[in-house]
Amino acid sequence: MYWLYGLLILLFASTSIAGPKVLLFNSYNPQYQWTKANNQSILQVLSSEVADEDLHVEFMDSRRFSDDLVYRQVLARLYQHKYSQLKPNIIISTGDFALEFLIQYRDDIFPGTPVVYNGIHFDLTQKLARLNNFVGIQEGEAIAENLQLITELHKDEIDEIIVLSDKSSLGNFFSEKVTELKKGWHHPSIELTLQDDFSFEELLYQVNNSSKSKNRGNGKAYLISVLSKDNKGRYFSYHDDIPLLTRYSKSPIYGMWGTPLMGLGIVGGYMNNPQLHGRNTAQIALDILSGTEISSFSQNIEPQFLPSFDNRQLKRFNLEINDLPGESEINFKPETLFSRFASAIIIITSIIIALTIIIILLSAQVRRRKDAEHQLAQLNNDLEDIITQRTLALERSNRTLLKLNSRMENLANTDDLTLIANRRHGHRILDRLNYPEGEEYSIALIDIDHFKNVNDLHGHDIGDQVLQFISHTINQFIRPSDTICRWGGEEFLLIMPMTQLEDALNMSERIRNLIATTPINPVESITISTGISAKSQSTSINELLRQADLALYQAKTQGRNRCIIWSSDSDQLKRPLD
Ligand code: GH3
Ligand code: MG
Ligand code: MG
Repeated sequence: MYWLYGLLILLFASTSIAGPKVLLFNSYNPQYQWTKANNQSILQVLSSEVADEDLHVEFMDSRRFSDDLVYRQVLARLYQHKYSQLKPNIIISTGDFALEFLIQYRDDIFPGTPVVYNGIHFDLTQKLARLNNFVGIQEGEAIAENLQLITELHKDEIDEIIVLSDKSSLGNFFSEKVTELKKGWHHPSIELTLQDDFSFEELLYQVNNSSKSKNRGNGKAYLISVLSKDNKGRYFSYHDDIPLLTRYSKSPIYGMWGTPLMGLGIVGGYMNNPQLHGRNTAQIALDILSGTEISSFSQNIEPQFLPSFDNRQLKRFNLEINDLPGESEINFKPETLFSRFASAIIIITSIIIALTIIIILLSAQVRRRKDAEHQLAQLNNDLEDIITQRTLALERSNRTLLKLNSRMENLANTDDLTLIANRRHGHRILDRLNYPEGEEYSIALIDIDHFKNVNDLHGHDIGDQVLQFISHTINQFIRPSDTICRWGGEEFLLIMPMTQLEDALNMSERIRNLIATTPINPVESITISTGISAKSQSTSINELLRQADLALYQAKTQGRNRCIIWSSDSDQLKRPLD
């Protein structure tokens, strides 16, 4: 049973992880700087799509065996054997040797397999045109551009530019290019020389004795095209030999091969970039693997040679950055204070900006709050003002109401005609005096004698005036504690608090006398009759009033114009109903 599971897992695993197989075919060896940088970039791009075990990398080490035909045939046999088992889906080749090898052997060893190449200097257009499934990036060269650059930068200092090459096939290729350029070289003061036959020691001696200034009679500049071997067969290591060469050289040395040369003492030049080259090549390979037709790529994609310089060498040879081509890349710039602390400066600046923003926001908030508080205080004040005004208005209305009230009360207690207290008010005073049990008081009920005659003789208006006059006269005469009320038509009740019967009689007599002796025009004379009683004689207010009324009646019956105190005799009289 377990074998079945195992088989299923194996089947599943083999179908799910089967990715493309890629063969990376290098002309040179892994120590060669250009190859190293180029390979690193290719592998980095491929790593996302190609599994490690599906990647095969070959280094043909062609520099050491550049013209060895046997070596090439042996390699062909080796690869024939090896790749009859392993069939790559695509081949990436770097450098001229590998591509030439594939042009010759691809259809025998890897029939039909697409080839993406880079790092090519030779013009292989003719040969490639006859083959299918080849596409790639021409590495080319920038000898002419660099000669132009050197001429411009050193025009007043040098009298010779020496292009260094060697006798390898690639060296010969560059030498031919230089020879070609020399034919068209017409500079008035600078000579162009190709130098491809020297030993390393001779070169070292030569550069050490040259100068960058023609004033010293020996102003030269160098451009390295290719240096693989010297004329003694000594292999030329960029990594070890270029630093020695540039250190000993009194002349500036320029180059074209970017990363492998940069930092080794070369001033700079129009350089290509093996990393960019590698990335672009790997991307073409991935596009083909994912189904893009090879014919859709242009056959030879040109690389870029961009001006790139070593700042330390620029200083050494007094070259100004301003004199360099625009957009030059300057390497090895001294670290500025800013670049050293860039991240710290950015973080601190960000914090300061953030804090400033927070402070601004908080200040705005505080200002808004203060404004709101101010507005609130203002509103409060306004409200208090309104309340004060309303309170004052209310108080005013209240006072007016109170006045009106007391006026109404006065009106309610006052007799309209005579303006003395009315009968209602008289009753109220009597109630007050009687309750609770208080002191002695007396009342006198006054009635004008024969008043009917006044009306009859002089008219009702005169009658009214007489009533007013008598009321006024009595009111003026009595004590402040006494009250005179209009009790009926021509009847008045005089209430005398704290007054004994005799005093009441006395007071009534004086009033009767005053009225009787006061002339009241046009009436000839007016008399009054009065019935008097005191609280102590009666048991209730009604009783008291009844007694006064009886006494008054007695006064009338006895001839009028007199004051009578109630006595039991008064009760004997038969008072006719009014
Ligand atoms: P006596 O001495 O018995 O009291 O005689 P008299 O005429 O005064 O009494 P009587 O009761 O017969 O008449 C009272 C008169 O008083 C009748 C009425 O016209 C008059 N009178 C009552 N009230 C008023 C008033 O307000 N104005 C005027 N002008 N006369 C009034
Ligand atoms: Mg009367
Ligand atoms: Mg009368």
